[in-house]
Amino acid sequence: MTSIAILHASQLVTLAGPKRPRVGSELSDLGIIQDGGMLIREGKIEIVGSTEEVAKNARDVEIIDAGGRVVLPGFVDGHTHLVFAGNRLDDFERRARGETYEQIANAGGGIWSTVEKTRAATSEELFKQAQIHAEWFLRCGTTTIEAKSGYGLTVEDELKILGVMQRLNEETPLEIVPTFLGAHTVPRDVAQAILPASRYSQTGLSASRYVDLVIDEMLPRIAKEKLAEFCDVFCEFGYFSLEQSRTILTAARKRGLGLRIHADQLSNSGAAQLAAELNATTADHLEKTDEQGIVAMKSAGVQPVLLPGSVYALGSTAYPRAREMVDAGLAVVLATDFNPGSSPTPSMPMILSIACTHMKMSPAEAITASTINSAYSLNRSGKIGSLERGKLANFSIFDCEDYRELAYWFGIPQTHSVYVKGERVRLWGAQATGL
Ligand SMILES: [Zn+2]
Repeated sequence: MTSIAILHASQLVTLAGPKRPRVGSELSDLGIIQDGGMLIREGKIEIVGSTEEVAKNARDVEIIDAGGRVVLPGFVDGHTHLVFAGNRLDDFERRARGETYEQIANAGGGIWSTVEKTRAATSEELFKQAQIHAEWFLRCGTTTIEAKSGYGLTVEDELKILGVMQRLNEETPLEIVPTFLGAHTVPRDVAQAILPASRYSQTGLSASRYVDLVIDEMLPRIAKEKLAEFCDVFCEFGYFSLEQSRTILTAARKRGLGLRIHADQLSNSGAAQLAAELNATTADHLEKTDEQGIVAMKSAGVQPVLLPGSVYALGSTAYPRAREMVDAGLAVVLATDFNPGSSPTPSMPMILSIACTHMKMSPAEAITASTINSAYSLNRSGKIGSLERGKLANFSIFDCEDYRELAYWFGIPQTHSVYVKGERVRLWGAQATGL
């Protein structure tokens, strides 16, 4: 493995700080080094400091001149639905015409259409499409993502999706943290979903039988084959009740999985409180969470994962109460919620833009929420999320001089190059055009 020295970053945004998730005013402290540099050996960061200091120690190493650009830890995207087949272009157009969710579902759209396409796709086909998605994440400066299953909803199809993630982890530079989301929605064909298990092959099948399938068939296989680190449930009226969510997540914990919850996206169902009760690592969405939910999350140390991309893409303005959460001392995380239905963006810079414009987070708070705090939410704070001695050299160089430009110029990729474990894995940007 080569050793390199990065010199002349206009701002080396280190995110160095206390060894815990950042809260309150800590979210604003980016630990910026002006004209900064890093010495990297064996894929890890050895020295972080001024260009002068790093250059002094940079013997027998390849010098990379950042040319007055911003250097940031690779974004850590804590909530994505990476692996699915097809897209939801027709839904997108119908929504633009003003059709309701029900009308779109009746016309053959909605989540079920993605489940059908994903079930019909081979593992190779899913891999090919997800490989393109992985490339998009790198293009936006993201080096680690959490990714959920949940478009299979049968034992074999959920395993197929998690298997694709495992292969992506081996064959692309993007690091993927797998989450099992068998409880994404109750399959329309519960019968088909559970028939493979002979003891369910009886009449009177219901949603609660699907919960049994998730607990009795899916979780044991996934835990045994170590296909996921976390378990997630879509806790919402019409999806999985509080009681069903509690049952599934409790079973997942017994199998050694960490817990995440899709909470209070469409209604204030008490899911944030459930996350607190179960000491879940994260509660995600939280568009409808009220003060009680915020207090509960604070008392249990649950990290809120806010997904403003889905609010934006659904044409809503009901953003979660980010300011109140920051002020209450929650270790806020921002993520894309990349998925074909409600948030078709892999772009963390776009999320930074929405967070600053619509949730009134500052650019610094948004960057902390999408790097170090997100790394904590994925149990990877010791390795990624900041540029500090001993951590993996996962970082991106952006074609701008001030980190705030990442949230300010929107709709244009500013990524210059991306490094994973000290290796440059992608290069775009001005260098290619000689600017
Ligand atoms: Zn989601």
